[in-house]
Amino acid sequence: MAGSFERFFSPGKGNGLRATRDCAVSELLTCTEPFVYTTCRRRNRAASVCDNCLRRSAKLQRCSQCKFARYCNSLCQKKAWKDHKRECLCLKSISPNVPTDSVRLVAKIIFKLLEQPDCTSGELYSINDLQSHFKDLNEDMEQGLGHLAATLEQYLKREIPDSSKLPPGFQTLEYFCKLTCNSFTISDGEMQDVGVGLYPSMSLLNHSCDPNCVIVFEGTRLHLRTVKEIPQGQELTISYIDVKMPSHMRQLQCQRQYCFTCDCDRCASKDKDEDMLAGGEEASREMERSLTTLEEMRSQNNLMEALTLCKKLINCSQLPNKNIQQLKALDFAMDLCINLEMWEEALQFALRTLEPYSLYYLNYHPVRAVQLMKVGKLQLHLGMFPEAMTTLKQAFEIMKVTHGRDHGLTQDLMELLGECEMRVKAT
Ligand SMILES: [Zn+2]
Ligand SMILES: [Zn+2]
Ligand SMILES: [Zn+2]
Repeated sequence: MAGSFERFFSPGKGNGLRATRDCAVSELLTCTEPFVYTTCRRRNRAASVCDNCLRRSAKLQRCSQCKFARYCNSLCQKKAWKDHKRECLCLKSISPNVPTDSVRLVAKIIFKLLEQPDCTSGELYSINDLQSHFKDLNEDMEQGLGHLAATLEQYLKREIPDSSKLPPGFQTLEYFCKLTCNSFTISDGEMQDVGVGLYPSMSLLNHSCDPNCVIVFEGTRLHLRTVKEIPQGQELTISYIDVKMPSHMRQLQCQRQYCFTCDCDRCASKDKDEDMLAGGEEASREMERSLTTLEEMRSQNNLMEALTLCKKLINCSQLPNKNIQQLKALDFAMDLCINLEMWEEALQFALRTLEPYSLYYLNYHPVRAVQLMKVGKLQLHLGMFPEAMTTLKQAFEIMKVTHGRDHGLTQDLMELLGECEMRVKAT
């Protein structure tokens, strides 16, 4: 792995990574493929993602054997076959049932370990080293995991009839725990979740709510990039969670999912907590509950109905745009409008999110770049060329740092900018 960082012992945190030289803003520190990965079928509403390259496509071909895995084309299918071969037999054996994402992922780890037990070459950390926090589990969690382990056993029966055929020393429950605190959600250009994968060396990165690095993906490839200047010897950090939450919620999620307490400056000073809950806690909670109802409506494809209710909630709540639940509602309304091709209304909702986004997503943040790009696209579509130009340029300023100029999304953005420039000149 690249020589810009090394593993070290981070006081109070255990393992970590630190810079071995001074790093500038916007450097690509490493680019790495996952040890294993899978699409996230259960969590994904529109599960039209290729099982090999994780790219979205309207037309995917099913594997003729298991009828579960789906690919862009025969090339993707061919590339995936080595990793899919044994899984395919298992999928077929339990059909029409399907495994959960985590069951499928643990099975993939098992097959991979059986095939190449020594997978540590070139890595700073191996799959065996990953922490599981297994001992911190409470009874409920253990019961839940026991259930998953039983499902996995059923799923694997065709290929692994008994535990003697597992990799030496393999502890199923421990691996489910490892997934909880070590897997990376793989997102596409639009920051939509498309998959989940393990990148063992990247698990050494510790968390901060105001990190000096970000992770973005291109297909299955993970890019670790700097968003601040990092002097030699300083620890590299990323954010494990969405920072658009008040500090006590962030603390809770860090504790529950990753078993640590965040002691970053933003948490210590409760930075922006008041803004996030502005307008009152009761009204916020009510909006939060309503958002669940809206999610249900959307999942049942009642888009118009959901939009009507969402607009009503936004107008009646009296919450400011910066209130995080109101902000979620605005985002939700924007997405619905885009799906319903109501561009003007989509733009109105999107514009209201920009200021709060810049308030919460500090520094260079990929989420902000993507949001600005969405707004710019809407403006372009509506023929508002000078406005689109300004917004897309703002998006570019962030994206060239968070994604880099070579990233596919930045390339798309540059194309939009070019188109916009032409239109401005023509008018
Ligand atoms: Zn593909
Ligand atoms: Zn198959
Ligand atoms: Zn924090």
